[in-house]
Amino acid sequence: MSALTLFRNVTHWRTGERLTLAVEDGVVVPAPKHPGAHARVFEARGAVVAPGLVDPHVHLREPGQSAKETIETGTRAAAAGGFTAVACMPNTDPVVDTAAWVEWVRRRGEAAGHCEVLPIAAVTVGQRGERLAPLDALARAGAVAFSDDGHPVTNAAVMRHALEYARPTGLPIICHEEDPGLKADGVMHEGFTATRLGLRGIPGAAESVMCRRDADLAELTGGRVHLAHLSHSASFDALRDAKRRSLAVTGETCPHYWVLTDEAVGDYDTSAKMNPPLRSEADREACIAAIVDGTVDCFSTDHAPHTADEKSRPFSEAPFGIVGLETALALTLTYLVEPGHLVLARAIELWTEAPRRVLGLTPVSLEPGSQADLVLFDPKEAWVVDPESFHTKGRNTPFAGWRLRGKVLVTMREGRITHTADEVVFERPVAEESAR
Ligand SMILES: [Zn+2]
Repeated sequence: MSALTLFRNVTHWRTGERLTLAVEDGVVVPAPKHPGAHARVFEARGAVVAPGLVDPHVHLREPGQSAKETIETGTRAAAAGGFTAVACMPNTDPVVDTAAWVEWVRRRGEAAGHCEVLPIAAVTVGQRGERLAPLDALARAGAVAFSDDGHPVTNAAVMRHALEYARPTGLPIICHEEDPGLKADGVMHEGFTATRLGLRGIPGAAESVMCRRDADLAELTGGRVHLAHLSHSASFDALRDAKRRSLAVTGETCPHYWVLTDEAVGDYDTSAKMNPPLRSEADREACIAAIVDGTVDCFSTDHAPHTADEKSRPFSEAPFGIVGLETALALTLTYLVEPGHLVLARAIELWTEAPRRVLGLTPVSLEPGSQADLVLFDPKEAWVVDPESFHTKGRNTPFAGWRLRGKVLVTMREGRITHTADEVVFERPVAEESAR
């Protein structure tokens, strides 16, 4: 039996109610009137408690790329960021395109124990966009979605068949939308900054034309399409339009698209190089508008660690991607909630219930009987982003030195504490002890 844990004076993320949350044996339990001396108590002083965050799009880099990240370090970073579950992309080495590799990733996640690891399996063998991977077997092995992330499925007939074969599994295909012809050898958003720096641009349409195509293929097949990491105004329009047509199409966006524009590339800063690229101010505003009007179904980080060596190459040669797990919540609170774009409850929903819905996961709540996957955070506490203190191996963030608000205090997964901030101290109940 695991000991009783009490979080006293927490604020419920949705109702705003002050309460005592009790956890025992991995589940939320009714708060007892007289906790025994064996209980541990955290005096939360009004900190917000919410279900643990869920990231539907991360790169944990294993198997094969452990210099960038491991399942151990990536999930440790997730716990530090308040996440209790992450879905990881299969563009590893080798590609996760067999049931055995799905199983391997899941088990390695369990062994690390920092958060739930939900493998996403490849759509095509080797992510080569040609032959379909064994989607049914991958689903039975525990894959939560299919994706050739990192590469688009260029051939529309292949995507059609993938959607047809994925349909009976009930799982979505997560689409990295990018027309390879339009992208060509572009390295950042096509616009003024690219021209100033003499870098080749990627037009926004490279993303949106593929969003339109896949929405039409969802209609043709009845399969489920989830549009990954949307960045461009016309892509949000495509998602909005797909919903108007009642298609099985959902979509996500990431904090960097509502916080930054292509100007963050500054003077060839590779920590602002990701794919899709940071875009224009109009795109950033369209991103926020699509979050506010409910077009965006959920958030993701697209956490993509690389080594310092790789990121110190010239801009055109450095790999795409930034880390995101340890800054996601604070960027949400600082840039969506504080300016009044979203109320706190909706912002948290987009990191909790919403990705669970998209991935078809069991709901988690704070009600007695629910699995105790939760995060406690102080929405007002300011901190400065220091990549050297990250738990991820990646240091590639454009937010180094930024002062953000919103600090994760405790993360708990199935009743086990997976992260505590330095200042968090658990105590024994005092008053009850003398009562005998
Ligand atoms: Zn991608």
